[in-house]
Amino acid sequence: MASGATVKDPGEFDWRNAREELDGLPGGRGLNIAHEAVDRHAGGPAAERIAFRFLPKGGEMREMSFHELSEETNRFANALHSLGVEAGATVFLLAGRIPELYVAALGALKARTVVCPLFSAFGPEPIRSRMEIGDARVLVTTPSLYRRKVASWRDELPDLEHVILAGADPGEAAGVPGSVSMGELLADADPEYTIDATDPEDPALLHFTSGTTGAPKGALHVHEAVVAHHLTGRMALALRDDDVFWCTADPGWVTGTSYGIISPLTNAVTSVVDEREFDSERWYRTLEEQRVTVWYTAPTAVRMLMKAGDELPRRFDLSPLRFIASVGEPLNPEAVEWSRRVLDRPIHDNWWQTETGGIMIANVAGMEIRPGSMGRPLPGVEAAVGRRDEDFEEGMEDEGSMEVIEDPDVEGELILRAGWPSMFRTYLHQEERYRASFTGGWYFTGDLVRRDRDGYFWFVGRADDVIKSAGHLIGPFEVESALIEHSAVAEAAVIGKPDPVVGETVKAFVALHADHEPSEDLRLDILGHARSRLGAVAAPKEIDFLDDLPKTRSGKTLRRLLKARELGIPEGDVSTLEEPL
Ligand code: ATP
Ligand code: MG
Repeated sequence: MASGATVKDPGEFDWRNAREELDGLPGGRGLNIAHEAVDRHAGGPAAERIAFRFLPKGGEMREMSFHELSEETNRFANALHSLGVEAGATVFLLAGRIPELYVAALGALKARTVVCPLFSAFGPEPIRSRMEIGDARVLVTTPSLYRRKVASWRDELPDLEHVILAGADPGEAAGVPGSVSMGELLADADPEYTIDATDPEDPALLHFTSGTTGAPKGALHVHEAVVAHHLTGRMALALRDDDVFWCTADPGWVTGTSYGIISPLTNAVTSVVDEREFDSERWYRTLEEQRVTVWYTAPTAVRMLMKAGDELPRRFDLSPLRFIASVGEPLNPEAVEWSRRVLDRPIHDNWWQTETGGIMIANVAGMEIRPGSMGRPLPGVEAAVGRRDEDFEEGMEDEGSMEVIEDPDVEGELILRAGWPSMFRTYLHQEERYRASFTGGWYFTGDLVRRDRDGYFWFVGRADDVIKSAGHLIGPFEVESALIEHSAVAEAAVIGKPDPVVGETVKAFVALHADHEPSEDLRLDILGHARSRLGAVAAPKEIDFLDDLPKTRSGKTLRRLLKARELGIPEGDVSTLEEPL
């Protein structure tokens, strides 16, 4: 098995060849995500296959075939032209997981505008600031979201020319300046459309990061990314023709777009889209009723399912379920074991980030899973453990002031050889910062990892979250995983707390399972458990009990917020903070 400085999967994988799996625009006119996702199937044997099964908050399920999706998205592209919206303009989407969101996203890609989906639970200010950074020209939203979240600041964004209201009652749009009803627009639009020549390097998608480590950054992706969306869906999620796929992420996060919209479509599989939020019983029922075969979710959801108990899933028939995958946060070994025991299948963790646009490191089907490891790099992805000069400054781009760590089991930053198709092409309006994340031809991800002898990567923590104590580097993930092994602990987060003697000590915040109450005895018991598992250096010195841990709306634990509160310093950008329950 590979164990060199870098790990390349065996075989002659080459992204240029991979592109041949896709069609390209007819007549050699380039590459457009929406053509690969929709039109090439609508014009072939999969035309009547169901592309989406929308499960609305109320009412009946709505199915949409590839053929129908093609016509609807054609109408939307024509409608954008009729409004005078040109290629390159940014179209923001702010809606729940309703059919119009999906039609608008793909139609806007056909019209070669740049699509930026926003999470509909954001408050007015995070929406306004992202639309300002993204130079919004068009907003697709619903009347209710518009009234609650946009109307108050609409005048501050004079470049926002059009608001397209999905689900508006007749005449409702007339009351909103510069707005049109999406229903009326589509009804008037032609269902035929020819996508203009699209350069693979044309911008296509703008995604804001989760804001876990600081203010969210706008990562810009191009049409070429579809090559990675397509192939990684097959390689990392094992998608194949007759699958029913359920990606639980919202398109407001990159996972919900790359794998909630694009990848299942390019692979011509049927996607389940659930408009409602998490509910353990309904989720299991959805898996059963929809006969889901491939399920892509996140560690937070898995931990909540674990909290709901082992008996619940046994009431449902999950026999069609063939493959479970997870992304977004480290997946504790405990969760993999639980899934094996209770769901009869392991969860396949994979790693990527907004900037990478698609899955980079994964536990693929059939591979030996090492619980706690995020797997190995996919074909075409060259990943390594690297380090660059401590005094690295912006502007030192490509000076070679870095090294690749060859030895296994050494901690360092996860780095990726630049050049995969879904690599971000800039941080919008932060070109310096973008350049500063590359050195010596490698992209520095900001995550700390180690690689074992067999090429498996193990997440240590985000570079910002790593704790330095008495000369040791302590990764939060390992400590948190040990804590949740304790039977009373449902969730845990640890931070470094400044200490005059050892630099930092480890402080833990834990949320308990429903059947446990905080007490001094329990605190001592958890401390003792951690100490016996981790040894004196890495074990927490202090534990606080919290009802819930602060998380981003994409489900990531906000350790920096816990730290700021602990130290009494400003909380920083909390625009993505989930409302306390
Ligand atoms: P910001 O960059 O604004 O701080 P963020 O990094 O949380 O926010 P995303 O791009 O949504 O924004 O998340 C990617 C990050 O999530 C990764 O860099 C990594 O830290 C974490 N992550 C994703 N998948 C995994 C995984 N399988 N194991 C461990 N960490 C993961
Ligand atoms: Mg990040």
